[in-house]
Amino acid sequence: MNIEKKYQMCSNCIMDTTDSSITFDERGWCDYCRNFYKNILPNWHPNSEGEKRLATIAEKIRKDGKGRDHNCLIGISGGVDSSYVSYIVKNKMGLKPLLFHVDAGWNSDISTSNIQKMVDGLGLDLYTQVIDWSEMKDLQLAFLKARVANIDTPQDLAFFSGLFSFAAKNNFKYILTGANYSTECVREPHEWGAYYQTDMRFVKDIHRRFGQSPLKTFPTVDILKYKLSYRYIKGIKVINPLNYVPYIKENAIQELKDLFGWQPYAQKHHESRYTRFVECFWLPRKFGFERRKAHLSSLILTHQMTREEALERISKPEIDEQTMIQDFEYVAKKLGLAVSELQELFEGENKSYHDYKNKMKFITLGTKIARMFRIEKRVIR
Ligand SMILES: [Zn+2]
Repeated sequence: MNIEKKYQMCSNCIMDTTDSSITFDERGWCDYCRNFYKNILPNWHPNSEGEKRLATIAEKIRKDGKGRDHNCLIGISGGVDSSYVSYIVKNKMGLKPLLFHVDAGWNSDISTSNIQKMVDGLGLDLYTQVIDWSEMKDLQLAFLKARVANIDTPQDLAFFSGLFSFAAKNNFKYILTGANYSTECVREPHEWGAYYQTDMRFVKDIHRRFGQSPLKTFPTVDILKYKLSYRYIKGIKVINPLNYVPYIKENAIQELKDLFGWQPYAQKHHESRYTRFVECFWLPRKFGFERRKAHLSSLILTHQMTREEALERISKPEIDEQTMIQDFEYVAKKLGLAVSELQELFEGENKSYHDYKNKMKFITLGTKIARMFRIEKRVIR
């Protein structure tokens, strides 16, 4: 007998059964909410205690990086999180970071200008790694042809691997990121196109089946190499400073505007035109996955938005139809596809990462162990 799961939305946040593994308690609260109050909130101190801890971390980074031009590395996209963390690291922690940017070919004009504003305003150095466009395009086309939800994996892989390879090569011991609980305490599940970008077994299988030319210079770091070699042998530590300070998105945006002339985006991650296409078009219209549900739920749990405001926001698309059509045409043209060819891929049968070779079982085991030792506090699936 086929029992279809009934639709349900959490009564505390707006996550729902479009996440097929979600569970609810008798109050109708989802497991993301329960995990937030049980595991995240008690271990999160964006106050004077956090300030003290951050000062201790800064001291250690300064000591370890003595004599270096830059004592830490920050990956910057031009989005609010990475811009704000650059400001905190330079002006509040008093460190000398090198800003590192990966240009995968899809930067919006605003993101390019925001990066420059942070570089100039903070007086920092910037290193930009430009990804070979023919390789980027080939991998992105392969993912589109694979008809999976996570067609943004090539960009995510380039950003992540570019940063960590650079750190390893240049002996950086500290990578400071804009990752934070305040706006990301509810993580998008893997099935919503957020599958591990560094599962190289998966990336290679898709590229082998649908790619045209070899990846020669494309930065790739496999998840196991990252977890083991980079962390334990190279000793690279990842610090998320935004978890130690009050980080309220609206206030941070206002501060960046006032101090640096920084410009905001309509929605998280829209610093890349491709990501905007993925989140506003590919995921919701082809798969029924709205990543905004996770983003907005994070804001509800951290009291930056009411549930009513979030429901109102989610009831409408983030960008208007005309802009979406323009984005669709822009993506097709840039990747060398006719609009009708992209349309065909869009209408083709939906696939998931389960349809290709992957290391999911292995990674899940690793995540379980990390949760057992309380290294990972968020719900990851
Ligand atoms: Zn919830």
